[in-house]
Amino acid sequence: MALKNYSPGPWKACHGGECSCGFIWSTPADHPVAKVESGEWGDDYPAVKIVPSEHRLTGTSFEVTAYMEQIGYGRIDPEVAQQNARLIALSPEMLTLLQQGLVLLTVEEINEWKNRVRILILP
Ligand SMILES: [Zn+2]
Repeated sequence: MALKNYSPGPWKACHGGECSCGFIWSTPADHPVAKVESGEWGDDYPAVKIVPSEHRLTGTSFEVTAYMEQIGYGRIDPEVAQQNARLIALSPEMLTLLQQGLVLLTVEEINEWKNRVRILILP
């Protein structure tokens, strides 16, 4: 699979992945490329509910209000989401390294790469 026409790297997780927005940005393109899920997640859908009303002009004592409901599928810990954002942000750099062929690298170069990844992932 040839990867091309993707948003250029480097990609950065918003505030190093610590921001609750969860966005990962392409720095050169200045736009988001992904958003990680955090907390409760599921499918959102519009719903309506009947609530007490204070419409004295119409004389009604209830009104229908629209709101968003969610079918929950689970929960993602914020710390896990933070690490997911950092991992996704590394994608362009990892792709470049893979395209260059890690098998041609020396042991020292692989260790240097591991250290660079460790520095980017660890706080
Ligand atoms: Zn943010």
